[in-house]
Amino acid sequence: MGGAMGGAMAGATGGENGTMARSDVRSPDELAALDSLLTDDERDTAATVRTMLDEHVRPHVAQWYLDGRLPARDLAKLFGDLGLLGMHLQGYGCAGTTATMYGVACRELEAADGGIRSLVSVQGSLAMYAIHRFGSQEQKLEWLPRMASGEAVGCFGLTEPDAGSDPSSLRTRARRDGDDWVLDGTKMWITNGPVADVAVVWARTDEGVAGFVVPTSTPGFSAPEIVGKLSLRASVSGQIVLDGVRLPADAVLPEVIGLRGPLACLTEARFGIVWGATGAIRDCLTTALEYAATRVQFGRPIAGFQLTQAKFADAAAAYAKAVLLAVHLGRVKDAAVRDAQITPELVSLGKLDNVRAALQVARSMRTVLGGSGITADYSPLRHAANLETVLTYEGTQEVHQLIVGKALTGLDAFGS
Ligand SMILES: Cc1cc2nc3c(=O)[nH]c(=O)nc-3n(C[C@H](O)[C@H](O)[C@H](O)COP(=O)(O)OP(=O)(O)OC[C@H]3O[C@@H](n4cnc5c(N)ncnc54)[C@H](O)[C@@H]3O)c2cc1C
Repeated sequence: MGGAMGGAMAGATGGENGTMARSDVRSPDELAALDSLLTDDERDTAATVRTMLDEHVRPHVAQWYLDGRLPARDLAKLFGDLGLLGMHLQGYGCAGTTATMYGVACRELEAADGGIRSLVSVQGSLAMYAIHRFGSQEQKLEWLPRMASGEAVGCFGLTEPDAGSDPSSLRTRARRDGDDWVLDGTKMWITNGPVADVAVVWARTDEGVAGFVVPTSTPGFSAPEIVGKLSLRASVSGQIVLDGVRLPADAVLPEVIGLRGPLACLTEARFGIVWGATGAIRDCLTTALEYAATRVQFGRPIAGFQLTQAKFADAAAAYAKAVLLAVHLGRVKDAAVRDAQITPELVSLGKLDNVRAALQVARSMRTVLGGSGITADYSPLRHAANLETVLTYEGTQEVHQLIVGKALTGLDAFGS
């Protein structure tokens, strides 16, 4: 890395012509007094996660992105050592933090890259949460401690080639054969799938949709990687192909039947996205601010142009609003707000607006970087590309509009 960065900085003449030093750049958190929203423990967690990412992820992530690969299993161990995997779950080797603390960690992870946050979200909020909430004691004891430590990687298979926004149309079938279950079907777009040790797979049974804990070494299970992505490239995505996968009777998650199972997991993961999006905004804004402080055109730093400052002011406002919403959701989820309860609709509202805001900011901050902004030396376009996935997965923008619209009007505008 670094070639284009060197070129862009060649015109900078720090200190002359009213040029700012990078150190003059003020943090958007400080400007809006956002750190005051967090407890000392939450701030310490953010600092610890950020330090780890500065050392192990930030120096490499642009190259991983360009290469379209991720050392997911190594990272899982690293994140497990820090207690980030399933960190808001209680017991079974999980850290048992508050939801807000988990959100704070998601903000740092996505500030590094959305693919990194996705690794942690899928592991903790989808795969581990499903087992923790709906699994048997044996399933929990078998998988959760290893998943919390990062020794075992998990994935979550709901989406299918013909069932995306409408999971009720899923076709993967689980049929009884004696005491066993036999699974057939195909899942699509499964994060961590090709590197996972265990998959939580949602399939149709005679009783309704059920979740299955499937060791990926089971004969008939394969997870071919999806290549050629233009978004979330520092993340492993795959299909899951289930070809007569035979599982014992106790492979089913016993505590849930119906789509409310996977939908509850999605609400958990969407909460992390509400926070993650704020990390993408912060990183884009800070990167552009630092660049604009030293990039000189027309004899002055581009940070001094009114049009550039308008972009920064709008981005800082978007950031402050997104953080306020994320903190509010965190406090509600932690039952720290009187007479308020977290609901799927509230999480949808946060996911919808924070991701949309992050995408707008990422695109705007990319323009501040000019030509340098289209290289991997700077993060905004990488974030913008990642956010296209984040806008789509865990419920598209339109799906969240429909959820919020239904909550407001009482009218269901999905489907026929
Ligand atoms: C990189 C990546 C990682 C992913 N990881 C996972 C994972 O780990 N596990 C998993 O199960 N899934 C995962 N997904 C799948 C993701 O959740 C789906 O892509 C998403 O739900 C959308 O489904 P779809 O792609 O089939 O789009 P579709 O459902 O076909 O939607 C296409 C368009 O139609 C719109 N649309 C659909 N229905 C309506 C409606 N009623 N009204 C208005 N507009 C509508 C959508 O909003 C969208 O704009 C991942 C996806 C990506 C891209």
